[in-house]
Amino acid sequence: MYKTPITVAYGDGIGPEIMQATLQILEAAGAAIAPEVIEVGEAVYLRGESAGIAPEAWDSLRRTRVFLKAPITTPQGGGYKSLNVTTRKALGLFANVRPCVAYAPFVATRHPSMDLVIVRENEEDLYAGIEHRQSDEVYQCLKLISRPGCQRIVRYAFEYARQHGRRKVSCFVKDNIMKLTDGLFHQVFDEIGRDYPELEQDCWIVDIGAAKLADTPELFDVIVMPNLYGDILSDVAAQIAGSVGMAGSANIGQQCAMFEAIHGSAPRRAGQNLANPSGLLQGAILMLLHIGQGEVATRIHNAWLRTLEEGLHTYDIFDAEHSRQKLGTREFAEAIIARLGQRPERLKAVDYPDDSRITLKPLAERPAARKQLVGVDIFLQHKGRDADALGQRLKSLGIPGLPLSVITNRGVKVWPKGFPETFCVDHWRCRFLADSGDTLDFGELLSLQTRLYMAGFEPIKTENLYNFDGAPGYAAVHG
Ligand code: NAD
Repeated sequence: MYKTPITVAYGDGIGPEIMQATLQILEAAGAAIAPEVIEVGEAVYLRGESAGIAPEAWDSLRRTRVFLKAPITTPQGGGYKSLNVTTRKALGLFANVRPCVAYAPFVATRHPSMDLVIVRENEEDLYAGIEHRQSDEVYQCLKLISRPGCQRIVRYAFEYARQHGRRKVSCFVKDNIMKLTDGLFHQVFDEIGRDYPELEQDCWIVDIGAAKLADTPELFDVIVMPNLYGDILSDVAAQIAGSVGMAGSANIGQQCAMFEAIHGSAPRRAGQNLANPSGLLQGAILMLLHIGQGEVATRIHNAWLRTLEEGLHTYDIFDAEHSRQKLGTREFAEAIIARLGQRPERLKAVDYPDDSRITLKPLAERPAARKQLVGVDIFLQHKGRDADALGQRLKSLGIPGLPLSVITNRGVKVWPKGFPETFCVDHWRCRFLADSGDTLDFGELLSLQTRLYMAGFEPIKTENLYNFDGAPGYAAVHG
């Protein structure tokens, strides 16, 4: 029988115990896998590898393209890079998939029928790490959203919903404020959604969506989100499901994928045969689905549900009312193994298709839009707080055909006709916009900057303003 090679890392703290338990269950269930072990985590960091992974471990990951990872401990102190972020970036893992399911009454939760999946974009948004201090008072973090990035994650969410028999896909964005970036995410959601008419679809502003998620999670099924909202709300969702210690997640890329528990290495519980292996086991179930072993995944998942409903619990979910016996990590794994082939009677059984692998078609090429340079936002560090005085000076410095149009401070219009009450910092965005309909030459922007510089202003950053196929590629200034 062919065995799919997978790369395994035992991690730190409770990692080795829960990995051993998980692999034991996989083996007993007949998973056709051939694990290769690599070392990651604390010891590797302390040997001087700043990302906690040895260079040769990448060879195994590139070979197997499937990574089952136990939690690791990141040593205290600066200079250590997150292994998860490094792995995501290096392997192009663009989708984070986290099922958040309630197991009431066996695990306490206020939302007993909650059963949703959060699909979080993993590579873009505010996580590119492009940050700058621009002035004495102002710092910036760049939020990058790309059309291919949105297409991949949204397509993945819809495909996931279809493959897993889900009924609905929701999108969370803040496009009433971030009209271009989150607006693009929303637009792509609507475009791709048309290919899935059998699925219900809705889009929520993230604030009210988050409130509903925390209050009435039953409203949701699959939710797709940009990186930051997904980061925060996937933790909220796991927490209110009552099962932080029991949830797993998948990080999926075009080539590779990584599977893990969502919890950390719980160092205080390490080496005591106490830890709950369920989170990592859930990660391993997602891995089995990814490699096309749905039948084994179904057997394991149902045996696990059966174990839970029989009240056989590790300490973290043990309670006098619903638990029958408190088990250690090893005994819990053995209880699951003893129930392989059985189905739960009170919790909802799973029936995964034999092969629910998700393959995304390559993105279709789009013709490039017609791009027309129409102006520039020049950011200045300027100490004074008098917007009118600054406006008058800059107005006199504009070049013919490219007049000063507006000045904002932290996005609020302060010239012309600002409010005296507006609090201003030392960071001014000065928008010079071509007389209507004109296309500028890049050289004109350079001469404008030179004029400003000669007059004693130092542009700390510029953003060119373009129209794309005639539509502004920059946000309007309101007020
Ligand atoms: P943690 O998730 O390790 O622990 C939080 C609490 O949950 C603790 O009380 C712990 O005992 C309990 N807990 C967690 N998993 C459990 C399990 N399987 N069974 C029973 N109880 C469990 O979070 P933390 O204490 O903030 O972090 C500890 C270490 O883990 C840190 O070094 C952190 O950097 C690391 N961490 C790693 C990952 C990862 O590798 N993906 C994720 C989060 C945190």
